[in-house]
Amino acid sequence: MSAAIDFDKYEVVIGLEVHAQLLTESKLFCGDSAAFGGAPNTHISPITLGHPGTLPLLNRQAVEFAIRLGLACQSRIERENYFARKNYFYPDLPKGYQISQHTAPICDGGLVAIPVPGGQREIKLNRIHLEEDAGKSMHDQDPSFTMVDYNRAGVPLVEIVTEPDLHSSDEVYAFLTTLRRLVRWLDVCDGNMEEGSMRCDANISIRLKGETKLGTKVEVKNLNSIRNVKRAVEGEIKRQITLVENGETIMQETRSFDAGNGTSFSLRSKEEANDYRYFPDPDLAPFNVTDEYLDSILKSLPELPEAQVQRYVSQYGLPEYDARVICDDKATADYYEQVATIIPSHKAVANWLLGPVKSTLNDQGGSMTTFPLAPAALASLIQLVEDGKVSFSIASSRIFPELLQHPTEQPLDIATRLNLLQDNNANNIAPIIDEVLAKYPDKVAEFRSGKKGLMGLFVGEVMKLSKGKADPKLTNQLLAEKLK
Ligand code: ADP
Ligand code: MG
Repeated sequence: MSAAIDFDKYEVVIGLEVHAQLLTESKLFCGDSAAFGGAPNTHISPITLGHPGTLPLLNRQAVEFAIRLGLACQSRIERENYFARKNYFYPDLPKGYQISQHTAPICDGGLVAIPVPGGQREIKLNRIHLEEDAGKSMHDQDPSFTMVDYNRAGVPLVEIVTEPDLHSSDEVYAFLTTLRRLVRWLDVCDGNMEEGSMRCDANISIRLKGETKLGTKVEVKNLNSIRNVKRAVEGEIKRQITLVENGETIMQETRSFDAGNGTSFSLRSKEEANDYRYFPDPDLAPFNVTDEYLDSILKSLPELPEAQVQRYVSQYGLPEYDARVICDDKATADYYEQVATIIPSHKAVANWLLGPVKSTLNDQGGSMTTFPLAPAALASLIQLVEDGKVSFSIASSRIFPELLQHPTEQPLDIATRLNLLQDNNANNIAPIIDEVLAKYPDKVAEFRSGKKGLMGLFVGEVMKLSKGKADPKLTNQLLAEKLK
């Protein structure tokens, strides 16, 4: 064993290649369904299967989605586009080539701003280009054969390629989380890494701090969650530094990550790298992006997540933490705004979304898009609390669950029906207070001799006896009078 390794001597350099399946109904070059799953080989036609004589036709929606993402990342949008054939043989690629973009990606450059301790950092993008997905070879369906499912063949993808501009596994984690939020926000990809609709390959190298030349990169593949990308990057950094510290050299290669044991193994070295013999696809006419088209997409872009976080802080006075959690997905952010437009207590709306609403969604495994309550219904419930008609605890534990069962009933009607309205009639509360004070003569004496902190105990007891219905303000007032 070598002496303890000084990891701090090294700078880590990482570039990511992220494939995102676009949420179009049909495939990139034909009308076959682009939906995830389905019985094997049911979303296929002669075009998907690459039969001779078939002709591809470009899906306009896919182009629009790629441009949406590019505009959101401040990329330069390429006006004169063409598709190229990337030739290689593989069983999941029936045509023998993948249609992709080569020298002129539809989105050139750009950036994604990620949160880092104490602020933000802009990660530079190299490009975002359009291409088609391959089918799927399955090696575990039969003992002696590999099966192939072509449903995925031809599904539209964008490949987002960063510059070698990330420097730690934490930055990689932040980048992927931010990118996933963005593609979901723009409705261009569902961002589901477990199902493979967003996939990431990580390119990693190390160099001594201060060195300007990039080190030899190793590409790690088969990363099916953001957490696994982080683990794989951490493992690869350690592997490379250990190699170098032991006087060995790093070989340029592609490795596969095994999530089961957290290690990676070599798939192929650079010598085996393919020559894809790219050439413009003669079956597809080049396409131009006009000013009008670009302009209409720009106009249709929603406010972007980070801008919305900052606006919620300034416009609604939310703490940045609240704004950030609420703007984690667009449905929740939009829902918040609809409720906050109805009632003035903006922080209370945030508390409800981060509290009872969030736990309900967590328990039921749903998302905001399927949340049964109309914003106005939640607003009425929150307003009941703000008006002092019910306590927050009664509202969240009793009325809210009932409202979820009967989303069209008025929260006030539910409170009345279940006899939960707060009591602000002194004639009802006074006898309860007497009962409580009679029960704790010692505490009353202590209070009178200066232990004012006991007030909480008395209020709590009154609340308990009134089943949470006594108006807390009035209770405090009456108690103070009686304890004089
Ligand atoms: P290739 O020609 O092997 O495909 P590219 O230059 O196209 O390589 O880069 C592919 C990805 O690898 C990009 O995300 C890029 O940022 C990243 N990358 C390139 N060189 C390095 C390096 N030395 N260290 C880390 N990442 C790198
Ligand atoms: Mg490349």
